[in-house]
Amino acid sequence: MRENRDCKIIQDLLPNYIEKLTNEETNNYIEEHLKECDECKKTFKNMQKDLNINSSKRDNREVKYIKKYSEKLRILKLIIIIILAIALVVMTYCYFQFRYGYFRVADAYHETITEGIYPDTFYATIEEISDSEVYGIKEIKIKGLNINDINHRGEYYFDVYLDNIGDNFKIKWNETDINFEQLKVGQTVAIYNYGDALEAEPNYLTSVRMIVVLDEVI
Ligand SMILES: [Zn+2]
Repeated sequence: MRENRDCKIIQDLLPNYIEKLTNEETNNYIEEHLKECDECKKTFKNMQKDLNINSSKRDNREVKYIKKYSEKLRILKLIIIIILAIALVVMTYCYFQFRYGYFRVADAYHETITEGIYPDTFYATIEEISDSEVYGIKEIKIKGLNINDINHRGEYYFDVYLDNIGDNFKIKWNETDINFEQLKVGQTVAIYNYGDALEAEPNYLTSVRMIVVLDEVI
């Protein structure tokens, strides 16, 4: 009876013993019993075999899992590297596009000055034409019309280099060139300037290259 109860305890402890989870005192107790009890020894051997098979199966599963996982990790790494490479290429492209694009715009801007396209256009009335002529320059004061965008509605001055008229500076009416003397205070004009509209006191237009008179010129 006692023997049988011992066997039950031993067989209960055996799985932990095989997994080496039992303490030394328990180990001694188990080993003592196994020496004397054939029944328990048999159980122990069978258990050991089963556990080994199970653990090797488990190991296999783990190995497979790790392999699969590291494969995924490798693919992920590759994707990250590809994304970074693409980002680098895009950023480099944007940088050069920005940098040289800017110069290209500046070049195009200079071209427009020579070709006479895409200027800023002010619709205005002539408010004042200077009587005096200083160094061959006459000053014209205009007032932007309300049809202009808000930045082009104020009063602006600009210089007309009399020597340049007909060359770099055109005064036109009805698609024909006219003289400076045909400009009159009160005329409605379109002013084409290729430079900046300086918002100073007074406002000043740089690089005015063409005045087109929109009213009838008598
Ligand atoms: Zn036993």
